[in-house]
Amino acid sequence: MLSYWEKTTLRHFDLVVVGGGIVGHFTALFYAQKNPGHRVAILERGLFPSGASTKNAGFACFGSIAELEHDVASIGEEATAALVMKRYNGLKLLRETLGDEAIDYREVGGYEMCFEPPKQERIDFFNDLLEAHLGSRPYSVQPSEGYGFSTKVTHLIKNALEGTVDTGKMMAALQQKVAQAGVLTFTQSAVEKIESTSEGKTVYIQTADGSVAFFARQVALCTNAFSRKFLAEEELEPGRGLVLVSKPHPAFHWEGSFHYHDGYNYFRTIDGRLLLGGGRHLDKPGETTLVPGINSAIEKALKEDIASLIAPGVAVEIDYLWSGVMAFGSSKQPVIKRIDDHMVAGIRLGGMGVAIGARVGQDLAALIG
Ligand SMILES: Cc1cc2nc3c(=O)[nH]c(=O)nc-3n(C[C@H](O)[C@H](O)[C@H](O)COP(=O)(O)OP(=O)(O)OC[C@H]3O[C@@H](n4cnc5c(N)ncnc54)[C@H](O)[C@@H]3O)c2cc1C
Repeated sequence: MLSYWEKTTLRHFDLVVVGGGIVGHFTALFYAQKNPGHRVAILERGLFPSGASTKNAGFACFGSIAELEHDVASIGEEATAALVMKRYNGLKLLRETLGDEAIDYREVGGYEMCFEPPKQERIDFFNDLLEAHLGSRPYSVQPSEGYGFSTKVTHLIKNALEGTVDTGKMMAALQQKVAQAGVLTFTQSAVEKIESTSEGKTVYIQTADGSVAFFARQVALCTNAFSRKFLAEEELEPGRGLVLVSKPHPAFHWEGSFHYHDGYNYFRTIDGRLLLGGGRHLDKPGETTLVPGINSAIEKALKEDIASLIAPGVAVEIDYLWSGVMAFGSSKQPVIKRIDDHMVAGIRLGGMGVAIGARVGQDLAALIG
């Protein structure tokens, strides 16, 4: 049974953000900063954000040459450069808003593993394409020695402007920042239903004590892969991703964010451990799901890659294993739009939400007003 205070004060907001991932937090933060005195709440179904934002690998990346080649083939040169700049500027916004120390941002470079000597024309092409926008030529060929990789890895293509963040620290910094801005966060609050009223929306949450209604002038849907429940028509495909973290080992002394297989597989170090993820391309039907879980075939393939490619001869023991769910569409652009007079959505962030999440939140907050 709700108290007088709960009923009169704690359920009424100018903005209710549904979903407490990167986008939900940034939307709440930028809206609250722009509208002092407005009441803002985030409703998150999990104890921690239960989508991708606390499950990701912490790559602060905006595109390897292999990935950008696909983009140029499908959307053309200009649109590819615009996509890269959106991610690059998103990363800048993330860093400026939270601070490099708070998120442990390290500009240690992004590296694409090559299994044959790379063609210099490819590198020149993308440096030429991006130089005018970035003011520098980010890509260069580097030797692959010094990391302990298999000799199958002949070279690395470095992107000097990429790096890593500590995902846990990033989300903790975001939580602190929204709290400082006066935003109230309710966790373990799964939104079941959103209904229109003449003045806004009624947002129903299922709790252990039954259904509770919140009232909002505006609702921002930031539920990424889980948005079908509210937006049945939206083109949206879930994509589950797997991450493994090893026990610490002296072999994992280097830094950088590494990719191979067109960016589908990725690895880095964290606290002297190896973090390895991806492999979704190995079982796309199986990984097109909202259900958390470990795909044992992908787990096996990633472990084989450790032994045959990344750290041959090293006795690597896996300490952590988890999955998270991303959202994809036929376009790599996120969906940022007004749904009706009282609801907006910022969803479908794909696999680079660390890079674009802040920017999506900023754009969504601007759309609300
Ligand atoms: C394994 C993995 C590795 C990744 N690695 C990287 C990386 O290294 N670099 C990078 O840039 N990106 C990476 N990504 C992608 C990045 O994490 C996402 O793009 C980003 O986190 C999306 O943020 P979001 O806020 O849109 O979505 P989410 O983080 O998914 O947030 C949506 C939130 O909505 C909540 N929610 C859903 N339904 C409801 C409901 N009914 N009521 C209340 N709350 C609800 C969910 O619990 C969730 O917390 C990775 C993703 C995964 C899964």
